Amino acid sequence: MDKIDCAVIGAGVIGLAVARKLAAAGREVLILESENAFGTGISARNSEVIHAGIYYAAGSLKARLCVAGRRMLYAYCAERGIGHRRCGKLIVATRDDQLARLDGIAAAARSNGVDDLQFLSRNEARALEPALECTAALLSPSTGIIDSHALMLSLLGDAERDGAVLALNSPVRGGRVDRDGIMLEAGVGAGETAILAQSVVNCAGLGAQGIARALRGLSPASVPPLHYAKGNYYSLAGRAPFSRLIYPVPEAAGLGVHLTLDLGGQARFGPDVEWIENIDYAVAPERADAFYAEVRRYWPQLPDGALLPAYAGIRPKPHAPGAPACDFLVSGPAEHGVPGLVNLYGIESPGLTASLALADHAVASLSGP
Ligand SMILES: Cc1cc2nc3c(=O)[nH]c(=O)nc-3n(C[C@H](O)[C@H](O)[C@H](O)COP(=O)(O)OP(=O)(O)OC[C@H]3O[C@@H](n4cnc5c(N)ncnc54)[C@H](O)[C@@H]3O)c2cc1C
Repeated sequence: MDKIDCAVIGAGVIGLAVARKLAAAGREVLILESENAFGTGISARNSEVIHAGIYYAAGSLKARLCVAGRRMLYAYCAERGIGHRRCGKLIVATRDDQLARLDGIAAAARSNGVDDLQFLSRNEARALEPALECTAALLSPSTGIIDSHALMLSLLGDAERDGAVLALNSPVRGGRVDRDGIMLEAGVGAGETAILAQSVVNCAGLGAQGIARALRGLSPASVPPLHYAKGNYYSLAGRAPFSRLIYPVPEAAGLGVHLTLDLGGQARFGPDVEWIENIDYAVAPERADAFYAEVRRYWPQLPDGALLPAYAGIRPKPHAPGAPACDFLVSGPAEHGVPGLVNLYGIESPGLTASLALADHAVASLSGP
């Protein structure tokens, strides 16, 4: 049996940010990652957008940690030379009956502390983006894009500099709450090992609920359900005539079929919302048919045949299809009563943006009530 001060489960952007935070505080940290590389889960399958913090319910963790995390992230990217661009985004109304929704979005943004949104008339929006069709728009100047892999590499570098160790091919299968800490059963390298940790932060993304359910001594009632909401992306063949991100007024469970850009200027559309039972990243070419209609509402010139299946990501939703959206769930000793254990559930968007602030919050939650 090995003994360790802190075990962080999962080497996605959240686990790496948590490990960095703990290691910087002088704690001994072991990161347990089931795959053979860091950052191959949800953190590798998203839109790479630095969100402003517009849509989330006032006072929610999503709202607070997105706004705080966005500021921290821009500062961190500038300090470390991580690829990013504050390109801005337009939220576009394409029907008159959506104009009131823009008002509502701007009001929600203000109550989250996002007070830089600008209302644009159709002509003002088209002066910025001539290919855009809309009735009006909101400009969010503080939205941006980021190289998420470079971010994760930098977080890992910081954590390792401060002594953290990353163990790849080390799936955590379960464990138990012990008198002296939390005993994890993990496959480390070729073998199985038991690791007694004083503190455990479960940042396993789509695996978080499975691990928590396999921890004897943790109340199963404290573990929320897990539903998979897949988001499919289609890339644009050829160059996009846009330099900002374009989002329609949001739809249920997602932010609508939006146009995002990567740092190389390549455009992709998505993600949509497809509720699935089992993890499956295949992107069906025929789903693009629905994308054409959605995209042409704001870009009528989208050529036929221009959308190519690209990739998919899966949102870890604690709520079932049709139920109201959940906040990030940070379940620490104050919630479940086990000292030294924090489980993170439902870390969907804006988790990438919020990562640095969410890490601070998770580490603070370790100390309990
Ligand atoms: C379609 C989509 C689009 C998104 N777009 C954005 C966006 O534009 N901006 C934004 O801010 N956020 C976005 N997000 C959210 C963001 O990507 C996530 O919040 C974030 O990446 C979650 O990181 P994570 O570390 O929690 O999960 P992951 O990156 O999945 O990391 C979890 C890690 O745990 C490992 N693991 C799982 N089980 C075990 C186990 N038993 N033992 C050991 N390791 C295990 C996995 O292999 C994985 O490496 C998006 C999400 C999705 C799905």
